Amino acid sequence: MKYINNINTSSVYNRRTFIATIATTVGAIALAACNIKAEKDSGNDPEVRNVTPPRLDTAYLGQKTLCYRPMRKGSPNMSVEIVGEKIIAHNYGHGGSGWTLGPGSAKYVVDLVETSANATSISKSAPVVVVGAGVLGLFTAYELTLRGFSNIIVAASSFDGLTSHNAGGLLAPVSMDNNPSMQPVIDRIGIDAYRFYAEVAAGKHAHFSKGARIMPAYFENRSESGLEPYVGKVMQPAKDVILDFGNGTRRNMISYDDGIFMDTAVMMQLLHDYLKDKVTFEQRKVERYSELTSTLIFDCSGLGAGALNGDNDMVSVQGHLIMLRDQLPANLQSMILVYFPKGKTVSGQEVKRSFYIFPKQLPGSAVNDIGVVGGTFIEGATPETPNIEEFDILVSNARKFYGV
Ligand SMILES: Cc1cc2nc3c(=O)[nH]c(=O)nc-3n(C[C@H](O)[C@H](O)[C@H](O)COP(=O)(O)OP(=O)(O)OC[C@H]3O[C@@H](n4cnc5c(N)ncnc54)[C@H](O)[C@@H]3O)c2cc1C
Repeated sequence: MKYINNINTSSVYNRRTFIATIATTVGAIALAACNIKAEKDSGNDPEVRNVTPPRLDTAYLGQKTLCYRPMRKGSPNMSVEIVGEKIIAHNYGHGGSGWTLGPGSAKYVVDLVETSANATSISKSAPVVVVGAGVLGLFTAYELTLRGFSNIIVAASSFDGLTSHNAGGLLAPVSMDNNPSMQPVIDRIGIDAYRFYAEVAAGKHAHFSKGARIMPAYFENRSESGLEPYVGKVMQPAKDVILDFGNGTRRNMISYDDGIFMDTAVMMQLLHDYLKDKVTFEQRKVERYSELTSTLIFDCSGLGAGALNGDNDMVSVQGHLIMLRDQLPANLQSMILVYFPKGKTVSGQEVKRSFYIFPKQLPGSAVNDIGVVGGTFIEGATPETPNIEEFDILVSNARKFYGV
């Protein structure tokens, strides 16, 4: 029996602190959705959960994708700036957490505008331009429709094949580079976003009935998850568990059973469908704000914000992803994220390697074409340094993790 000992200290569970409604709903859904058979050995021993590994032979590996997280050093830019006659509301630079924060970040930035003295004279029927059609742009446009803005233009150089479509789909505030002073704000925004997705997952959201699901999210320890600030507010405490892969390999992990999976490509489609009759989509590259006739502009330009704003704190973080195919969907009803020590790529770039797996599906794909594995975090890497060998390393690490 291979037994990898990475057990954590457990955190204190204060029953009075968590919100009963969400906890009950998500707990019930987690149990229903999960194919994992749990057994308790005895007393305080961690629960043993039998997890069948996904099929990872070459025949089961589908599309390989390279994509780039728009990370801003210090914190995402969520602020309002006055440039001449224009009010620019920035909402970019969310690194590896754009989906985790998206709905909350949109609310936060629209709130900033609505409470800003400069914006009080702007009528809800005046034109508003949202630059960018990724998850941040679409959630910002969505939020503006909810606040009654009726003349919204979403202007973007590209609408398809964006980082936002490719992203894995785990709700966890990871792969960011935040100043400690900003962390409480980021946590509040993430907690707000959790509430949005939990409502979608519970089938109680007014506009979206798919695109997010509750399921166990497994990490090696609590601090790496970034989710501890959510516990007691919207999430239940993590549990110590042992994952048993049924092949002699067991791993000590922690589980947030009310983790949230966001089906990113599906949710992008749903956001588009919701917005298509309410906003105007315009394909164009914005070189400078003065080209736009509207006074109020929301800047959700992701990596494009570096050039658009002359923001030198923007950096791209390359990621490698492989879609899986011909899987048994019942074996892909949880999420796993583990990190490995830093290394160097063949091109000499520093790489933070991890293994993660989420039950992502592409819109319209066959039921068995489910699952995405990742991934790498390579700061500053570009399409000119694709680090292609990382795909093989990723598969090899995934097989090692499961002992297959
Ligand atoms: C491998 C990988 C895995 C990930 N997994 C997760 C995950 O599990 N959970 C999570 O929360 N996040 C994850 N992320 C992060 C997430 O994908 C990003 O934070 C998010 O997609 C960023 O969204 P965005 O809207 O800012 O940028 P983008 O999706 O890049 O969209 C930017 C938009 O701006 C437009 N644009 C740019 N410049 C201009 C311009 N000058 N004029 C007009 N339009 C312009 C672009 O055309 C595009 O429409 C992952 C990212 C990667 C790379």
